[in-house]
Amino acid sequence: MSAVLQMESVFVFVLGIIVGSFLNVVAYRVPRGESVVAPRSSCPSCHTVLRSVELVPILSWLCLGGRCRHCGSTIPVRYPILELVTGALWVATLWWIPNWPARVAWAVFWVLLVAVAGTDLTSMRVPNILSLPGAALAVGLSGVCGVHGWGQTLLGAVVGAGVLFAIHLLSRGSMGLGDVKLYLSIGAMLGPLYAMESLVMASLSGVMVGYGLRMSGLMKKREPMPFVPHIVIGVVVIAFFGHPLTEWYLHNLLATGV
Ligand SMILES: [Zn+2]
Repeated sequence: MSAVLQMESVFVFVLGIIVGSFLNVVAYRVPRGESVVAPRSSCPSCHTVLRSVELVPILSWLCLGGRCRHCGSTIPVRYPILELVTGALWVATLWWIPNWPARVAWAVFWVLLVAVAGTDLTSMRVPNILSLPGAALAVGLSGVCGVHGWGQTLLGAVVGAGVLFAIHLLSRGSMGLGDVKLYLSIGAMLGPLYAMESLVMASLSGVMVGYGLRMSGLMKKREPMPFVPHIVIGVVVIAFFGHPLTEWYLHNLLATGV
């Protein structure tokens, strides 16, 4: 790895975790209808306004051992995870995506996706105020930045949301309308085929993690599980490994049927 790319990676990672830290604010406040700019961050339990040193992404959580230094209440592990995931996705985008316009489009899309995963984790909701402007932004960025041509972008959005809407109807609402709206932007960024592959991956992740959590007793049997984090996993896998996975699938599974 060249020295320039190393420096770029560090810069992009630090910027990514700072943005991730803001996404934690979004995830907590947007479902409550609160402003994301004011007031300053405070502990949800004791309401002490947090000092700058308590707001350093990842490090503050680690140094404080995941507890508020004033009242000792637990700070969910979601906080450092959302920060780390945003930073890691931005670095992966720098490494995997070959040109800057497309990198910018992906970086913005990851911000949307992590924010929505956050609101789903805090409140089991995908707020329209994130998913709908996010869809318009993803369609615009995918087309303008050349992630896909306009045809694939629009087809992806329509197929993505359309298939999810069909599942919403068939599942009698187990698949929420929030997920349907979220797939407008996912379809725009991945195109129709990869959007469907991401859904398969998300479902696999949901089944496996759900099974694991229920077996280990961390989740009750009928307790609903936020699905957007699994959607993020599916989209990440397909965004970065969609090509080799599709090749492998065509080579191994379809070839055996010939
Ligand atoms: Zn506190």
